[in-house]
Amino acid sequence: MKRYVYNFGNGKADGNASMKDILGGKGANLAEMTNINLPVPPGFTISTEVCEYYYKNNKQLPKSIKTAINESIKVLENNTNCLFGDHNKPLLVSVRSGSRASMPGMMDTILNLGLNDSTIIGLAKSTNNERFAYDSYRRFIQMYADVVLEVDSSLFEDALENLKYENNIELDTELSTNHLKQLVDIFKKIIKKEINLDFPQNPNDQLWKAIAAVFDSWGNTRAVTYRKLNNIPSEWGTAVNIQSMVFGNMGDDSGTGVAFTRDPSSGKNIFYGEYLLNAQGEDVVAGIRTPLPLTLLNSQNQKNQSSLEEVMPKIFAQLNKMRVKLEKHYKDMQDIEFTIQQGKLYLLQTRNGKRTAEAGVRIAVELVKEKIINKQEALLRVPPESLNQLLHPTLDPSANFELLISGLPASPGAVSGKIVLNSEEAEKMALSGERVILVRLETSPEDISGMHAAAGILTARGGMTSHAAVVARGMGRACITGANELRIDESDRKIFFGKKELDSGTEITIDGSSGDVYLGIVPTIYPEMSSEYDKLMSWSDQYRRMKVRTNAETASDVKTAKEFGAEGIGLCRTEHMFFDEKRISVMRQMILADSKEERTLALNKLLPMQRLDFESIFLLMEGQPVTIRLLDPPLHEFLPSSQHEIDLVCKEMGVKKEVLRQRLIQLEEANPMLGHRGCRLAITYPEICEMQATAILEAAANVQKKISNSIQIEIMIPLVSSKKEIVFCKNIIDEVANKISKKLNCNFNYLVGTMIEIPRAALLSSQLAEVADFFSFGTNDLTQTVFGISRDDSGTFLNEYIEGGFYINDPFVSIDENSVGELVSISAKNGKLSNKEIKLGICGEHGGDPKSIRFFEKISLDYVSASPFRVPIARLSAAQASILNKSA
Ligand code: ADP
Ligand code: MG
Ligand code: MG
Repeated sequence: MKRYVYNFGNGKADGNASMKDILGGKGANLAEMTNINLPVPPGFTISTEVCEYYYKNNKQLPKSIKTAINESIKVLENNTNCLFGDHNKPLLVSVRSGSRASMPGMMDTILNLGLNDSTIIGLAKSTNNERFAYDSYRRFIQMYADVVLEVDSSLFEDALENLKYENNIELDTELSTNHLKQLVDIFKKIIKKEINLDFPQNPNDQLWKAIAAVFDSWGNTRAVTYRKLNNIPSEWGTAVNIQSMVFGNMGDDSGTGVAFTRDPSSGKNIFYGEYLLNAQGEDVVAGIRTPLPLTLLNSQNQKNQSSLEEVMPKIFAQLNKMRVKLEKHYKDMQDIEFTIQQGKLYLLQTRNGKRTAEAGVRIAVELVKEKIINKQEALLRVPPESLNQLLHPTLDPSANFELLISGLPASPGAVSGKIVLNSEEAEKMALSGERVILVRLETSPEDISGMHAAAGILTARGGMTSHAAVVARGMGRACITGANELRIDESDRKIFFGKKELDSGTEITIDGSSGDVYLGIVPTIYPEMSSEYDKLMSWSDQYRRMKVRTNAETASDVKTAKEFGAEGIGLCRTEHMFFDEKRISVMRQMILADSKEERTLALNKLLPMQRLDFESIFLLMEGQPVTIRLLDPPLHEFLPSSQHEIDLVCKEMGVKKEVLRQRLIQLEEANPMLGHRGCRLAITYPEICEMQATAILEAAANVQKKISNSIQIEIMIPLVSSKKEIVFCKNIIDEVANKISKKLNCNFNYLVGTMIEIPRAALLSSQLAEVADFFSFGTNDLTQTVFGISRDDSGTFLNEYIEGGFYINDPFVSIDENSVGELVSISAKNGKLSNKEIKLGICGEHGGDPKSIRFFEKISLDYVSASPFRVPIARLSAAQASILNKSA
């Protein structure tokens, strides 16, 4: 017969930490802590398979489970010396949900289950503490009513507030026994009034209904949506934990608290937490009373706050020992819940603690120093994407600003701007040069352009994968979603941040890394990198196989990338160099030229400018490889488009309007992405290729005199789809190289290769590799050509899927392994077969994406190239990929 129930208690458990699949995270760790002799109140876990059964069988529980649960209750009774439903010494339990992955939207915990009008008397007598008994009863009724009976819990909160007000009482702890008895009566009446039901008195009934409520909550809309958006299979199901109660509300020798084994925001190895005396369950986090600091260290910052370390030194010492034991055992920082019952300490939960990026890096590095984990494990611990938080400007911590509200940190970055309430306004204001924050209930596909125009996005609804979050991350906009306390009054153009009211147009600052929203413009800083960060990066370099380069063309980008550890340039686009004010008119002369002679004249003016660009890059890169892509975009991009601009350009250049108009018509592209561009330009105008090759090679010759490392030039031919095209361009380049090396009496170290960005090129790779020294995969264009969607569509496109209830990964964020990835893989393999020496790299944006980098490691590319700010992410990802690949 299938096992559905797993006991834990008295140092022995049926389960352990590895059984998260069937026990859920909470249950598995309760079992594990029991096994390593930590003081966990005994209990049992009903497995996730029961949840699965429940849904497959029309919300019926398996027959055998009743007996199993009754048996487990008996074990509990023996362990605790109490009896479930007993009038003298009643056993009380908590009912706690817990799935494999922590999941918002699931049922809240019920505490003190088993109380009724007669067991309450036994509880009061056997503990000799009537006040405590009624405190527990009123809590139980409220939680049970909320969760199982679905009576609005604000009714109970209001009733409690009223009672306190009438009796001039401030804190719950000041309520007398009589007050609590009154409250129990009031609560029962509320239930009677709301659902015309007497509060259920049968403890068994209470238990079964509570268990069913947990399973039902797995199917509620919130939970279902969350799972869909996060790719959590609905078959996983939730477990239910039934655990004997320990009481933190028995007086001032009791209490409850939460703690992190290290500081979760800085990562410092100090105990960090909060507690309350004479309190139960969520009191600490619910904000009913202000919790007190755990340690003396932290209490010194806050006046008149006595720490647990001072108030209960013995308990604190025990807790501190458990902290060390837990970390050694779980090999990571833990987030724990504890309760003290009359001077005795219990642990109620442990899990790996959530932490900031900074803390994540520090903890991983320090755990290695403490010999708890090794370097590989440390590298795998830090989510590469989290480094984003460290590299982007952050709020100046010395600034003191009013926190308005908090939501989910959906897309990192700290930005300020004026509040706007719709996309139209966002676009308008952005056009006039204002920085705006788009504030909405939620966003939809119609908001794309407004989101693009905004510096940041704030929404009241939605999670980390809502439309706003997905699109903002794709666009690189800072974004906060799910700010529940945000209300918008569109008609009065007012925004309520909790109780605070602001007008549209007010300046606010959002921090997409923390989820916090502030009033006013908070100054930002570039954070300094910690020594732990440096250490982690040096380990990354030690363990990765792939090289990491950058996509950069300006001196400042190149410098930034080098500081972040780039080992070369994987993509230097040359067209950006022509958009400079002084250069664009020469470029236009070249485009408007009627003959080869005229064109050459213009190109000769561009040559020294390009040479200077390349000189500065070669100098900065000091002999590291530099891949320069020859001119790529269609020529109309360099010409004016509006009538006003056309007039202006004609006047400046002294050309007739008719001439310019003729040329514009001539250059018009039906499909600019696939038109007269890339190597096709070099083929119609070989002198462009010649000029660029000359500029590159002369620059190299000049710089070579100044530096000792041999300059590694890689000239890349774009948009190739046949071998002939490469040969054509390569011949020009080789000729130029010959000429210059004779003229300047020097030797060059240069490669000629191609960008693979058209499916045909990928499929003809064995031919291309016969003449190409390297392939660089341009996966942006390759994705567009393979998917048949453009990058700009992807937000809308994805969103339609999300709204239809599906979720697919954005192919522009992570490479689609089965289509684009498959082409890259075929190309790499065939390229290698016909040219053993061929160098393989990736210069699309996937080169900075952790998941894609894992894929590129699998197919053994030589390097990835990422934008400057993503270089550290790529270094860490490449190390992780290499470690994982070896262990696979
Ligand atoms: P969540 O998943 O929301 O953290 P929990 O199941 O951990 O919910 O429980 C909520 C609160 O109740 C926590 O503070 C927890 O420590 C406390 N709690 C749960 N079970 C017991 C118990 N058996 N005895 C005392 N406190 C408990
Ligand atoms: Mg908990
Ligand atoms: Mg391209």
